[in-house]
Amino acid sequence: MNLSDPLSAALEVINGYNKHYKLSEKELECLYILVGMRLVTTVTNASLKKQEFPNDDYFVISEKPAWDLLEKWFNVNEKFAYYSFRNACDYSAHPLEEKFENWTKNNQVSLKTMFPTVASEKVVNLDMSVGSILLGNLSEYSNAEVSEFKLKQFQKHHPKTILLNGYLEVRPFYTTEAFKSEGNNGPQYRTVHLGTDFWVHSQTPVHSPYYDKDYGPMLILEHHFEAGKFYSLYGHLTLSSLTILKPGQKVKQGELIAYIGAPNENGDWAPHLHFQIIFDLLGNNENFNGVALPSKIDVWKSICPDPNLIFKEELNTSEEKISEENIINFRNNHLGKGLSLSYDKPLHIVRGEGVYLIDIEGQKYLDTVNNVNHVGHQHPKVVNARQKQMAVLNTNTRYLHEEIIAYAEALLKKLPPHISVIHIVNSGSEANELALRMAKTVTGNNDILAIEVGYHGNTNAVMDVSSYKFEGEGGFPKPETTHILPLPDSYRGKYTGDNCGIDYANHAKEIIQNLKAEGKETAGFIGETMISCGGQIVPPKNYFKEVYKHVKEASGICIADEVQTGFGRMGKTFWAFELYDVQPDIVTMGKPAGNGHPLAVVACTKEVAEIFHTGMEYFNTFGGNPVFCAIGRSVLEVIEDENLQQNALEVGGFLIGELKTLQKQFAIIGDVRGEGLFLGFELNDSEKNPLPEHASYLVNRMKQLGILMSIDEPDHNVLKIKPPMVFSKANAEELIFRLKTVFGEDYMSVQDQSRTQL
Ligand code: PMP
Repeated sequence: MNLSDPLSAALEVINGYNKHYKLSEKELECLYILVGMRLVTTVTNASLKKQEFPNDDYFVISEKPAWDLLEKWFNVNEKFAYYSFRNACDYSAHPLEEKFENWTKNNQVSLKTMFPTVASEKVVNLDMSVGSILLGNLSEYSNAEVSEFKLKQFQKHHPKTILLNGYLEVRPFYTTEAFKSEGNNGPQYRTVHLGTDFWVHSQTPVHSPYYDKDYGPMLILEHHFEAGKFYSLYGHLTLSSLTILKPGQKVKQGELIAYIGAPNENGDWAPHLHFQIIFDLLGNNENFNGVALPSKIDVWKSICPDPNLIFKEELNTSEEKISEENIINFRNNHLGKGLSLSYDKPLHIVRGEGVYLIDIEGQKYLDTVNNVNHVGHQHPKVVNARQKQMAVLNTNTRYLHEEIIAYAEALLKKLPPHISVIHIVNSGSEANELALRMAKTVTGNNDILAIEVGYHGNTNAVMDVSSYKFEGEGGFPKPETTHILPLPDSYRGKYTGDNCGIDYANHAKEIIQNLKAEGKETAGFIGETMISCGGQIVPPKNYFKEVYKHVKEASGICIADEVQTGFGRMGKTFWAFELYDVQPDIVTMGKPAGNGHPLAVVACTKEVAEIFHTGMEYFNTFGGNPVFCAIGRSVLEVIEDENLQQNALEVGGFLIGELKTLQKQFAIIGDVRGEGLFLGFELNDSEKNPLPEHASYLVNRMKQLGILMSIDEPDHNVLKIKPPMVFSKANAEELIFRLKTVFGEDYMSVQDQSRTQL
């Protein structure tokens, strides 16, 4: 009861029951009706008892959910339920499946029987699966002209060939609202194709593969064999094809039955035949399912067997894919041992589109994690900028080229006027590495101040200032030249209250004084303006002003690490440091700069740049090449064109408001914080103790419900929200709706002290 898909729920019960008490095929035939009748008994009983005992709620407790379920059950196709029960009890879902396969062995036909006018010698598979490189970007495959051009090119390269695909192929076209339904675990999409598509020219005549009996108003032929009957379905024809045969007319093998329709009348973007074999039309011969839910595919593929079975040719419609198990094994054996995978059951993602990531089964996940794909996954403008420039030139900065100038100019416009020189590098780590080298060269000193649980990258010098790493698992002793300031966390940190910014900043003053006492000076300070790995920490208002003051008074260099926070994410400002009204000497950028490409930047004052230039050449093989500059410029353009900073302000504002409302409803949400689309909330008990198991439960449940979230903070109890900047208000509403569902689950209630383990 109270589930959106009662059939799936029933299957789990039936499967478990069958393991102990084997159900017969005959019993399974009656089961659908029996389930219905059991519910009828419940509602009838409730109705009678209500009259007898009008004041006793006990008798009507399940009346409403039983009615709801009865109505849902009535809408489940009885035959489909029967086939699903069979599948759950280890029978072949459709009883004819095996017999048909045997029959086809002696009754195969040549493709020539069906397409006698097509001069083909072989068949080739056309990859239209979710991860298909041939399909390309959403902007390409949703454009009929582009797709048709690609198809024609493919045909040209494969003369005398029938192009085909589709049986059990998971396709990206079906990840739209039209194919979406609510399962018991969130949204699900019918993405698996059940027929075979033959990509032939329009007006190609189609002939019957078998001797047929009759067919309904659509072009479905009925065929008989010893064990029973089956149907063949023909889609995307010309309209006039439907008058070639009359209902009930007998058809000979090889007789003309239809013509392939052109896109203007066939309901699709290119001429092709959708051909499907079906054992049971399930009472639906008007609009029979051509695609199915991955979770129900075992039943569907038994009702709709592989059309390949009837043809003499090896059609090879689906190519062998590497199994997920093999991918995991290979990673474990041959890729760096420190690589991690997200979630209890890792996701196999093959496509990105805007705010969504799509897995190998065509299921879509709303991405609230990926601030790298800043303007959206596979944004067509960025893809296009890269494709165009890389086709023409990709070389280093030792030649004159306009693109680096155009990018530098566009980026500098977004920075305050005192920052006027940029160095283009390949990663956030490299940017911070260079920034530290600049600070050390410019000051002639080595000691660096950094923030507790800060992370600045994976190279040597930046690891040395990344307390998140060296103080974390597998870490190393703090280097002598590193000085860690306590995490300026006004919720659960060392200091709280109105004055805590000054208290936290005083540590910088103290460290600098201590260094002086030892006869040393500081090279500078590196810090994220909002501490991301530390758990989306928003430092107190006057914190940076004070820290910068102390560092600058000691002639140190202030480095603002904007790798996570930059490029409009804050909403109110383009860079996070601007929220604190400070003037860094160096700003480092990474992740979002290239929307997923290795583009990072060190921007600095003219003074720093000049002193750093000691005469030694600064050469960077890849940094500043025209391809990544073109990408970077397109990212800046999209932020502007699509008003993404404003979007961050509005959607982020809405989202934080909604999260604060949730916080009032659910005691487990200890704190909600952030700016724009850089938000976080933490899970605590009433003593503010972190609840990492709950965070892990939440993240895994949210994944089931179609939303990707991530956890960070040394205590693993902070949920971070930093989605692509195209995250809309509707996406935010979906996120809140699903969060509410999970927070409402028993496991998430903090009142219950007994529940500390999963
Ligand atoms: N600085 C910050 C704040 C980061 O979050 C990261 C990456 N997580 C880096 C630097 C390092 O960037 P990259 O992984 O591109 O080397």
